[in-house]
Amino acid sequence: MVKTKTPHCHFCGRPADDTDFFITSQLDNGGICGNCLNEINNMVNNDPDVRDYLNTLQLQQKAEKTSKNTKRFSMKDVPRPADIKAYLDQYIIGQDGAKRTLSVAVYNHYKRLAQGNVDANEVEIEKSNIIMVGPTGTGKTLLARTIARLLKVPFTIVDATVFTEAGYVGEDVESILTRLLQVADYNLEQAQRGIVFVDEVDKIARKADNPSITRDVSGEGVQQGLLKMLEGTIVNVPPKGGRKHPDQDYIHLDTRNILFICGGAFDGIERKIAQRLNAHTVGYRAVQNVAQLDRDNLIQYVQPQDLKSFGLIPEIIGRLPVLTYLEPLDRQALRAILTEPKNSIIRQQQQLFKMDGIELTFEEDALEYIVDKAVEFKLGARGLRSIVETIMVTPQFELPSQHVSSYVVTLDFAREQVEQSSLTLSTKRMAKAES
Ligand code: ADP
Repeated sequence: MVKTKTPHCHFCGRPADDTDFFITSQLDNGGICGNCLNEINNMVNNDPDVRDYLNTLQLQQKAEKTSKNTKRFSMKDVPRPADIKAYLDQYIIGQDGAKRTLSVAVYNHYKRLAQGNVDANEVEIEKSNIIMVGPTGTGKTLLARTIARLLKVPFTIVDATVFTEAGYVGEDVESILTRLLQVADYNLEQAQRGIVFVDEVDKIARKADNPSITRDVSGEGVQQGLLKMLEGTIVNVPPKGGRKHPDQDYIHLDTRNILFICGGAFDGIERKIAQRLNAHTVGYRAVQNVAQLDRDNLIQYVQPQDLKSFGLIPEIIGRLPVLTYLEPLDRQALRAILTEPKNSIIRQQQQLFKMDGIELTFEEDALEYIVDKAVEFKLGARGLRSIVETIMVTPQFELPSQHVSSYVVTLDFAREQVEQSSLTLSTKRMAKAES
């Protein structure tokens, strides 16, 4: 009988016979013994580098595996533009122009996805990323978020102000995609057709009067970084975000089918619009047209060249071909926002109380008062929520232990709560400091 050599541990050289546990290698007459396995296990648990490496590897594997199991995209799943708008109408007050433009752009985007890879003879539909211009708190984020919810695609919001050029303190532009991967639970296929909302894109505009002779760290350099992503490219995404590191492992994410929606207040862009409109108005016809302009709401005339005058580089503007605007919210819109959307602030409060068995109602003049205060504090729609929260703290604290079945918020009560609150104090202080 031929006696085979006992396998040895590749790490410590110990023969398999000497250990209680041994895993043989598939390649040769060796393996790993229980002792060394235990050592490795300790390393995995205690050495941050090893742990980091394994985590990344697992995320990469997860990304590949889940992608294979994802159902292919079908146009049947995408609602028609009118349906998209009808859905948006349930949650967002006004902003009709923006809703229509977005509905069409999103629909076209998904048509492009349905088209898949085109051969040389076919007409290739180009990507239509979107830019929304409008004052803060008018519904830009809400629009983008609502669309993503309707389409059930991964959605993430990133603030353009956190990015700085590579090599400076701040986040790399690539980290946008890490977040998208995270919300898609590392399903690469799904992340690759998600929606990214880049907020405050106006803050990375190049500053014409930048006194620095060195590079404009937060301006043009960041725009260049963003540009690549908007165009559609394979980006090396650090699976856990943060700064890119030379020997880190990356997930390769294709941004070709990601829809980017950018938003910004572009404070002062009205001046650029006015300058352009005035410069182009020569002759009798033009004078007539100028007279018809709605001077109080110039944002509705925004054109790509105004974004350029504001400091966005032409390449970025070219990659955001769908331009739309949001109107400032007037008193009537604020009043509607309070109660009309499906998940309006008031309905949310009512739901909270309902869970305690209490039917909550607001007197009409209490609602009007809330709107007045939001206008007075110049907080827009964002202000509505903080005012309502301020009014509701006391009832939310007291009522659950009082066994009542209904509660009415009156004007007097609302006024009393707001006047006592720090909201009024801090706004008064701000007003004083300004004057
Ligand atoms: P923006 O992104 O334009 O700064 P948001 O979309 O974040 O503003 O709006 C802030 C909040 O104000 C939203 O969560 C929403 O409650 C409310 N809001 C703003 N605009 C509208 C609108 N047109 N219709 C309904 N709610 C709105």
